[in-house]
Amino acid sequence: MSATSVTAGTSIESVYVSALDLFSIGIGPSSSHTVGPMRAGADFARRAAALPGLTRVRVQLYGSLSATGHGHGTPDAAVAGLAGAQPETCDPDAVRGAWGRLNDDSHLLVDDTVDVPFTRDDVVLNAPSSGLRHPNTMVLQAWTDGEAPAEPALEETYLSVGGGFIERVSEQGSGETGDNGTPTGPGFRTAAELLALCTDGRSVADVAWAAECARRDPDEVTAGLDAIWAAMRTCVDAGLHTDGVLPGRLHVPRRAAAMRRRLEDDPASAVDAWLHVYALAVNEENAGGGRVVTAPTNGAAGIIPAVLHYMWRTTPGATLRDVRTFLLTAAAVGSLIKANASISGAEGGCQAEVGSACAMAAAGFCAVRGGTAAQVENAAEIAVEHHLGLTCDPIGGLVQIPCIERNAVAASTAVTAARLALAGDGSHIVSLDAVIQTMRETGADMNDKYKETSRGGLAVNVVEC
Ligand code: SF4
Repeated sequence: MSATSVTAGTSIESVYVSALDLFSIGIGPSSSHTVGPMRAGADFARRAAALPGLTRVRVQLYGSLSATGHGHGTPDAAVAGLAGAQPETCDPDAVRGAWGRLNDDSHLLVDDTVDVPFTRDDVVLNAPSSGLRHPNTMVLQAWTDGEAPAEPALEETYLSVGGGFIERVSEQGSGETGDNGTPTGPGFRTAAELLALCTDGRSVADVAWAAECARRDPDEVTAGLDAIWAAMRTCVDAGLHTDGVLPGRLHVPRRAAAMRRRLEDDPASAVDAWLHVYALAVNEENAGGGRVVTAPTNGAAGIIPAVLHYMWRTTPGATLRDVRTFLLTAAAVGSLIKANASISGAEGGCQAEVGSACAMAAAGFCAVRGGTAAQVENAAEIAVEHHLGLTCDPIGGLVQIPCIERNAVAASTAVTAARLALAGDGSHIVSLDAVIQTMRETGADMNDKYKETSRGGLAVNVVEC
């Protein structure tokens, strides 16, 4: 990858989101319902703590954050964020139950500095409401003289827009909190524009690398990509070695560790079987509130690590350079979907979460296996196409059923999509741009009950024990 080899298109504002932001190290079980609210809480806490004489803070959760907030640990994450915790560095065990441990006499150290009274009632789960600017909306309030119903001294509305990214409504248009600055480097807004940059042997990863190096020092990019891979490996390893039952009233047993033992005892087992176990391992860690890499969301966090591990095992002589190529290619595809459709289940249903991750993994795997830019675009297109219309209906509001198995299935689909693309010459009828547009329109038409509210689908047709 050459940082200087791609200069065309620099005048176009790019939709590219740095791989170091798209793949953020955080905690489970949800990027939009756990990581985003924690970031919003921490961002607000910094402002509130600077107010002279802070007396009270309050969190109001709306829409999907309210409907499935309990199952996703949203109140815990918001409280931990208000106390100054960050997804990248927090202790997952300390975050879990942070809200439930509060009582009528509790206090909170806002931004880890200012002590105020804070009870469970200071996190308000409002009924799912219509007319919201975004389905994942939270309002944070601070008082310097008394408390509600008095007028707050500071009030901010945050949108958790998927993948752990947040937007502060008062600053909309100035960029999302969580991204790392103004997009620069080779510009593309669509897959067609991305492909137009891939001339003279330049790959999608080369374009992404140039975009990264326009924002950060190349050594920082390389170190960041390698840290993402290391975190993914740690997460997979933890999932492969943890037995037990996942939190929540479904009492879902973990399966990855037992499956690992069976595969290790069977030397004849196919490497394809490991692909599914890797995905289960990550999603069980996520459902358990453990340390995971948002890829590009937590609900879909198992697909890219599973396919990366599969690539590592099945590619003779695989190196870290292959991993970086995979991640950069995946980031370019994820950026296109994020900009032109959505990576948020609350906005577009599961097609936006698992469908996006599958497309990113398919593209990355295709690239490492020698696919041309056209074949990479084809692989991503195939992966999205066969997730169109997929709804989000997690039982009990927990990121467990159907989410965990769905990641394993999507990992297989990603490998299949890459193989189909590699079997062709890159020419195909449905473009990636067309299928992303279809995802956006399908998501807009989808009934809200299928968008991370647990008010439809499996969530209402399966009796909880
Ligand atoms: S059904 Fe899909 S979008 Fe919904 S929580 Fe599960 S993985 Fe996320």
